[in-house]
Amino acid sequence: MTHLELDGVTKVFGDPEKDGVVAVDDLHIDVPDGDFLVLLGPSGCGKTTTLRMIGGLEEPTAGEVQFDGTVVNDVKARNRDVAMVFQDFALYPHMTVRENLGFGLKRENNDMTDGEIEDRVTEVAEMLEIEELLNNKPGQLSGGQQQRVALGRAIIREPRLFLFDEPLANLDAQLRKTMRTEIDELQSDVGITSAYVTHNQEEAMTIADKIAILNHGQLQQLGTPDAVFNEPANLFVAQFVGSPNMNLFDGTVGERGDAYRVEMDAASFDIPKRLVDTEFATTDVLVGFRPQDIFQGRGKKRGASGPSFDAEVRVIEPVGTEAVVHGDSNFGDITAKIGGFHGLTAGDELSLAIAPEHVYLFDARTEALLK
Ligand code: ATP
Repeated sequence: MTHLELDGVTKVFGDPEKDGVVAVDDLHIDVPDGDFLVLLGPSGCGKTTTLRMIGGLEEPTAGEVQFDGTVVNDVKARNRDVAMVFQDFALYPHMTVRENLGFGLKRENNDMTDGEIEDRVTEVAEMLEIEELLNNKPGQLSGGQQQRVALGRAIIREPRLFLFDEPLANLDAQLRKTMRTEIDELQSDVGITSAYVTHNQEEAMTIADKIAILNHGQLQQLGTPDAVFNEPANLFVAQFVGSPNMNLFDGTVGERGDAYRVEMDAASFDIPKRLVDTEFATTDVLVGFRPQDIFQGRGKKRGASGPSFDAEVRVIEPVGTEAVVHGDSNFGDITAKIGGFHGLTAGDELSLAIAPEHVYLFDARTEALLK
């Protein structure tokens, strides 16, 4: 197991003095032994470049990559003892599954006998339930089976780090879900510290111990799935995590006794100060509600005094026992995720409300979370 640390890691492609692209900007990330870190963010935010710097395929322009407190910037990729799994599987097409699995062991462990290698191949094949496929070539396997072999090839060497770059991107939606659970279980079983790149927030939320959310090469937040969802550090994180997206409206906030008074175009409401962790100055804000936190009925009926409003239903998208409802309200467009939607049709009027503890406030200028 390995404690991975990125200390001010930066990557500039091209000439830093002229037109260089800052792909990764002063990243500080600490991944304890055995943890599963997911690097999450939109296309081009620097996820792959970060992973490649951990793996030694890309050299940092500044900062240090450390394994167990030792700087590895100058250690070549093949000497870092990391295993990488990519979306294109990267299997050898002319070799059988058995040979694909055993190849790395043969190359790197001169002291292992053929019998020992065969035992380890069988052990890993059983772990991944691909024993029946050992004599097949990659071309005879489905995408999911190929990805299992690619995983097998990574774990067979018992590396000190696993690095995954969108390993499920080429699989269909159903298989992605199955495989991500398997990767999660496998990683917990073998306990090897892992870094995993994805732009899929659902995937990140289900497998990560910690998620590092990047935008424009900069770390926006490093936290557990629960923390990035419930306490997003800023507007970017709040919008990137959670589906459907958070509703956002302009507003202002001022103090009123032991509450903050939030004024919006079409509504105003109080947030008791006991619900707010830090004090903040009165300011222009963006007011956010997660679709999941909107409920039907008047706020006061539930003992809450958050914003309440009417919305005319525009579109209903059933998802299991709930539905995502898009509507027009006096705030503007609103998206709510609600139960009890049967019998609802476009044009119906809904009374909706949010409890004040579920209201998010962001500073309109800095976009930092205020509450
Ligand atoms: P994606 O999800 O699309 O793979 P990413 O978050 O992994 O994106 P990176 O591939 O790390 O992003 O790229 C980060 C930035 O660095 C992008 O602006 C990209 O164009 C740039 N970049 C990456 N590799 C190089 C390179 N070899 N030369 C120049 N620019 C590069």
